[in-house]
Amino acid sequence: MGKCYLAWAKDPEIRQKGGSGGFVTATLLAALKEGLVERVLIVRRIDEFEGVPLLTDDPEEVKSCSSAHLAAPLNLSSYIPPGERVAVTVKPCDARAIIERSKRRQIDLEDIYMLGLNCGGTFMPVRTMEAVSDLFGLDPGDVLGFEVSKGKFFVEARSGTYTLPMVELERMGYGRRDPCRYCNINIPVMADLACGDAGVPPGMRATFVEILTDKGDELFEAGIKTSMIEFEEAGKEEIETRVRTDRRMSEDADMWWDELSSMIDEDDHLSYYINELGRCIHCGSCKIVCPVCACKDDAKCLDMGREGYRISLYNLIRLFHLMDSCIGCGQCEDVCPVDIPLTMIHQRFERRMEKELGYRPGFEMSKPPLQEPEPGGKV
Ligand code: SF4
Ligand code: SF4
Ligand code: SF4
Repeated sequence: MGKCYLAWAKDPEIRQKGGSGGFVTATLLAALKEGLVERVLIVRRIDEFEGVPLLTDDPEEVKSCSSAHLAAPLNLSSYIPPGERVAVTVKPCDARAIIERSKRRQIDLEDIYMLGLNCGGTFMPVRTMEAVSDLFGLDPGDVLGFEVSKGKFFVEARSGTYTLPMVELERMGYGRRDPCRYCNINIPVMADLACGDAGVPPGMRATFVEILTDKGDELFEAGIKTSMIEFEEAGKEEIETRVRTDRRMSEDADMWWDELSSMIDEDDHLSYYINELGRCIHCGSCKIVCPVCACKDDAKCLDMGREGYRISLYNLIRLFHLMDSCIGCGQCEDVCPVDIPLTMIHQRFERRMEKELGYRPGFEMSKPPLQEPEPGGKV
């Protein structure tokens, strides 16, 4: 484990407005001020149900994006500009995608400072609007904010606060995206800093920060040097609370994985793949959004149509290519127009591979066991 601190923005306004005491906002501002990076890549809130990537060097814009956005299931790795030093706020799946893209020479990891954010899952915007309307009778336009805290879903609306246990919400088909429910990486240990609420004493406006790399040290030092942050060392109790929270969230994710997997007949899983992938209409969207796919327009899989088979070679090639690379981000499943559970399918292969070969994509720079990335990214 790296060095652990409780840290917050020194500026009272940023501390009050920012998520968890504004540490991340203050550190991004410090990285710009110190010239560690040219720009920062963050999520800009359009409203409660829409967030978009923002690449900026404007401190005022950074300050205006200071709160977390749950209904922005983006993968920021796809928005990193080439050849520029950038600090980016990353969920575990963003960080893992950045590392995998770096192996495929799509990104130079040396240029990137990753401020990791603990993640318990993201929500699909439209489904979340349906949830507030169906379950609480609210007009989504009247929603001022929503959050998940201590296993409950809270909606803050003009007419008051509404809440439901997450388990209940998700049993009714609302809540987090399926891939987030079974994603068991909550703390972005592959980033430069890991930041989150877990371990922060109740009532304290602060972030629990773990420094994981030399670049993480540089970011933290920039915050100190510019007097943007204040901090204290995390105590044993706070560290243990964070470990327990992480373990509980991983167990919860594994429970979801078992539950969703149990819908597949293990004695006849081939039928499951044939039935699901046989519905593919070959729009190509899952390839376009996949952050670890480095092949361009001349990709082999794009030449492969159905050609009389029930599962097209397009899908079979993607299954093979992603078997040791899929980081479970859910982007493919989000865009599939015929709702094929693509992440579940790719993860069933990847998790098996992980177990057999002991290789986990997106954690460090060792090469994928099945493929040697070539210069230019083609595999
Ligand atoms: S896949 Fe995992 S890291 Fe990514 S948004 Fe979902 S829960 Fe967070
Ligand atoms: S296959 Fe899907 S879940 Fe896996 S990395 Fe690509 S987009 Fe993400
Ligand atoms: S997004 Fe869905 S329909 Fe489109 S190519 Fe991928 S699997 Fe097929």
